[in-house]
Amino acid sequence: MSAENPDLAIAQAATLRPIAEIAERAGIPADALVPYGSDKAKVDVRKMSAPASHGKLVLVSAMSPTPAGEGKSTTTVGVADAFTLKGQSTMVALREPALGPIMGIKGGATGGGYAQVVPMEDINLHFTGDFHAIQIANNTLAALVDNHIHQGNQLRIDPRRIQWKRVVDVNDRALRSIVVGLGGPTQGVPREDGFDIVVASEIMAILCLASDLADLEARISRVVVGFTYDRAPVTVEDLGVAGAITMLLKDALLPNLVQTLGGTPALVHGGPFANIAHGCNSLAATRLALSLSEITVTEAGFGSDLGAEKFLDIKARLGGLSPDGAVVVATVRALKMHGGVAKDDLASENVEAILAGTVNLGRHVENLRKFGLEPVVAVNRFPTDTEAELQAVLDWARQQGFRVALSEVWAKGGEGGLAVADELLEAMKPAGGSAGSSGAGGSAGGGGASGSAGGGGASGSVGGGGASGSAGGGFHHLYDPADGVEASLRTLARELYGADDVVFEDKAPAQLRMLQRNGWDQLPVCVAKTQYSFSDDPKLLGAPTGHVLHVRDLVPKIGAGFVVAMTGAIMTMPGLPKEPAATRMGVTDDGESIGLF
Ligand code: ADP
Repeated sequence: MSAENPDLAIAQAATLRPIAEIAERAGIPADALVPYGSDKAKVDVRKMSAPASHGKLVLVSAMSPTPAGEGKSTTTVGVADAFTLKGQSTMVALREPALGPIMGIKGGATGGGYAQVVPMEDINLHFTGDFHAIQIANNTLAALVDNHIHQGNQLRIDPRRIQWKRVVDVNDRALRSIVVGLGGPTQGVPREDGFDIVVASEIMAILCLASDLADLEARISRVVVGFTYDRAPVTVEDLGVAGAITMLLKDALLPNLVQTLGGTPALVHGGPFANIAHGCNSLAATRLALSLSEITVTEAGFGSDLGAEKFLDIKARLGGLSPDGAVVVATVRALKMHGGVAKDDLASENVEAILAGTVNLGRHVENLRKFGLEPVVAVNRFPTDTEAELQAVLDWARQQGFRVALSEVWAKGGEGGLAVADELLEAMKPAGGSAGSSGAGGSAGGGGASGSAGGGGASGSVGGGGASGSAGGGFHHLYDPADGVEASLRTLARELYGADDVVFEDKAPAQLRMLQRNGWDQLPVCVAKTQYSFSDDPKLLGAPTGHVLHVRDLVPKIGAGFVVAMTGAIMTMPGLPKEPAATRMGVTDDGESIGLF
């Protein structure tokens, strides 16, 4: 087990500090701590005063990944532990893992090697129950919609135009398209339906963007479940069930506190995927971390084209956040893959392919520069990398004028992250002016805490809140939602994906008109796109140019406050691979997990 699963073996061997001690270290008062056992807790931010956000925010992104992931969570944790070693008060803000990738190919999301958040097994499995709460809240709403239709359909909901799907937290392709309500008049009204994976649910997005319970309920009220026979939107408010759905989520809204192997307090909360959703941990957790620590290290899923872009254009805009530093994680294996090497040959030395693959890494750095950030390239060292390969990447990055450092956090924990941490501190030094403390500019931050929670883009408007270019230190958003969804998509396609054109096909043209009709076309866009390529074609590796972005559907998520643009062949319910990781899992007689990674 341990040879195959060093992550699990290291995590199981670790001695954890009591969660009360971690809370104290973070400055969380005892009466705000809601322990879940001895090493996990929720933080009841309503019991905390709302100190202004004062810390610096570091966003970790990556180059376009291999299917295994390139080590963003690992780097996030390791670099945070490096800051802790340097005596800086630091917190980590990560997403919660989803069971789909755990049972499928990619594995858990607690980092790896000596750079992990723990208890690894609990966090990767049922943790504090947030995903289950989201699942049942989502599915309760689905049941209430179908029941409304069955009981006479007073709202005249067109069963063919319901957009609210059921969700489950596992990749289950058999549920993508189903028919419900079969069996006669007492079994409901038959209609076509389908399941999404939990991490694509609008409830997940709402939980991650809500500033407090009132904002959560207001957002849930605005959710559009479908349309009437006259094409008028039907909302949760129309159904009168926003209170019930909010009640199911009241504990899930509170950030979860755990620790890293290096003893850094870590908030692990919320977990939308970055390819089919907005890809960032909760705003509540990020705000809490920023209010408590000097440095918050957070991650957003996949590359600069997905999670980072959504962090910067959706979450940061809504929450008034302004990142001070950024990291782009690069690996020798991903560089080789973008340089044309087949998956089975990634372990053999190949400097030439690495140099060919740097086009992908280069574009991710340039993309983040377009937001006014100057990222540090963290070269995540794997045991199979050779010195010549690592040196080639470091030399290339320096020649480009990029900030770069070798990251050895997987093998060495915080010690192995000192070089990246030092480079980040250099990069975040105020350049003759504003230090750009995160969040200071936009909302009061409010520590994710109670009540008003500024900047929440809150209750009133469905819009994305904060103005473009809210930041100090050069940070700005890439597009202005006021220009319309179509213009926003064209900007993203041209500036970040290297596309020449955007085509609206299948349902998209009609949906675009529907958005305009309902006044929803000035919301930020959340692009659903493959993580493997800048384009919508997973096979176009490297840094493709001259391609066309195919937008096939536009789905209004009015509670979340954005429009999802479905591109290429991406699906909101993934499938399991031929050999799922689940086939290698089990438990010992003592109840310890086997095969988690
Ligand atoms: P991401 O957050 O980018 O998806 P993770 O940090 O979850 O990536 O890492 C993906 C997998 O790769 C994990 O199983 C982790 O243990 C492994 N991994 C990450 N970095 C290294 C490394 N330097 N050496 C060996 N394995 C690593």
